Amino acid sequence: MNNKDIAQLLFPNVKLSFEEILKRYPKRNLKENQIVTRFAPSPTGYMHIGNFFQAFISYNLAKNTNGILFLRIEDTDEKRKIKEAKEVIYDVLSRFGIKFDEYQTLDGKDIGNYGPYVQSQRVEIYQTFAKKLVEEGKAFPCFCKKTEGKEDVLKLRETKFEDDDEKEYDPCRNLSYEEIKKHIDNGESFAIRLKTQNTGKERIKFYDLIKGELEAKANAKDFVILKSDGVPPYAFAHAIDDTLMGTTVAVRGEEYISSTPAHLELFNALGFEPIKYCHNPLICKIGDNGHRRKISKRYDPEANMMFYFEKGYPTTSVLEYLLNMINSGFEIWRKNNQNTPWQDFKFGINDITAVAPIFDIVKLNDISKNVIAKMSGEELYQNWLNYALEYDKPLAKILQSESQKYIKLCQMDRDGTQKPRKDIYNYSMMKENFDYIFQSPKIFEIDEDDKEKANEFLSYYSKNFSMPSSNEEWFNSVKAIAEKLGYAIDNKLYKQNPENYKGNIAKVCEFIRIAITGSKNSPTLFTIMSILGEEETKNRLNNRF
Ligand code: GLU
Repeated sequence: MNNKDIAQLLFPNVKLSFEEILKRYPKRNLKENQIVTRFAPSPTGYMHIGNFFQAFISYNLAKNTNGILFLRIEDTDEKRKIKEAKEVIYDVLSRFGIKFDEYQTLDGKDIGNYGPYVQSQRVEIYQTFAKKLVEEGKAFPCFCKKTEGKEDVLKLRETKFEDDDEKEYDPCRNLSYEEIKKHIDNGESFAIRLKTQNTGKERIKFYDLIKGELEAKANAKDFVILKSDGVPPYAFAHAIDDTLMGTTVAVRGEEYISSTPAHLELFNALGFEPIKYCHNPLICKIGDNGHRRKISKRYDPEANMMFYFEKGYPTTSVLEYLLNMINSGFEIWRKNNQNTPWQDFKFGINDITAVAPIFDIVKLNDISKNVIAKMSGEELYQNWLNYALEYDKPLAKILQSESQKYIKLCQMDRDGTQKPRKDIYNYSMMKENFDYIFQSPKIFEIDEDDKEKANEFLSYYSKNFSMPSSNEEWFNSVKAIAEKLGYAIDNKLYKQNPENYKGNIAKVCEFIRIAITGSKNSPTLFTIMSILGEEETKNRLNNRF
């Protein structure tokens, strides 16, 4: 009885041969420099910014080399699987315009010749290769109870493992055919482990496309390649998939560097050429203690890609901010190419930062202010409305029912000006920022000393108010009334003898502004009045302090 018999005993239902599988996945016909890369998320119901960062890097690498980007759903971990988690992945990616050349549609149709693009549908393939490794004596069944659940097997190991702590040979690695058969006849389940060829003494060198040459201890663990449910963990599945699917560069987080030696041993055992890894640095934050830490799902709302939709950041702002993190040259490029879409900023693997970028919301907001400043009023209105339709239905109703008014608001200090306002960085702040458009102010930013004068002026002005048709007409009418009531309309004269006047024309405008908006600062009053309309403006001029 040899390894082939053991393999047959373990995998009686695996009928495919690995040669047949290899035939199904012919080598891709690539031009020089064309990158085939992938995004391989696990469906957890949550898209972390770090994952999205990888997707975005991969997307650009493929785009910039006319290469291929595919999406592979890594759903072999039953424990983590969450209903509708796939939808979250597709939703985030499609909103950000990350398009894939190959993927599986949500209703299960594979687009591309290297599918299925969902790992749970590839189990037969993994088992075929696991069987092959057993046949070749490179893998073996392990019957320790709860092999994945640690405790029991760890206890076993304490007694059976040899001293060298780098070595984690499994107690089951040398079972005979008869012993294996006995376990199987007993109905025991088993995992398949790789029979590492290393002793714990070897070191290996490997090349990372961002970090350059790295050196580490070679793997010396008989790690699980197929769990007792017949499904592989990440390491085995990705080695097979990335090979069959023709990945040339795999972008993944640098937390995988430590397991790369194990992955390389797998490639070797499988007889595959190792793929090239590009371990991207992890996005960090400066914690309260001033130290750098990984941006985390637990503490940082910005770690969740949904945050940006919920706050109403334009997707372009987020993408431009990520580009800025990937390569600091983007900022200069943006300055020199103000009206060019970000897609024209090309970068290659060598341009990706090797240093962990620090997430800084102020920077994102600055970028976003510029992105929003470039929108036309109509565009801003539409984006704001789309945001409200999803996250603030009552607001959407208002925006729709008086669309002309709100389009005008969005156009204010924007359309037809060289210097559009740069105070908005997401759509959720629009309502608060322009609260005075939605409702008459309740709090007035008026100085105590001015109250009496303001009330006097407004009583007069409101009585005589009619909607002006231009800024000039409006200002002239204010001047006439101001003069009548004893205000200086010439600032020079006012400065020479302030005691001769109740105040100057600027003061008068401030009274009107406070009555209408509640604040001493606002965009052009005439524009605000024309947005509010004659009746509402008149009502507000009746505000008293
Ligand atoms: N499913 C793995 C993850 O989400 C993919 C890692 C990789 O890109 O290879 O971390």
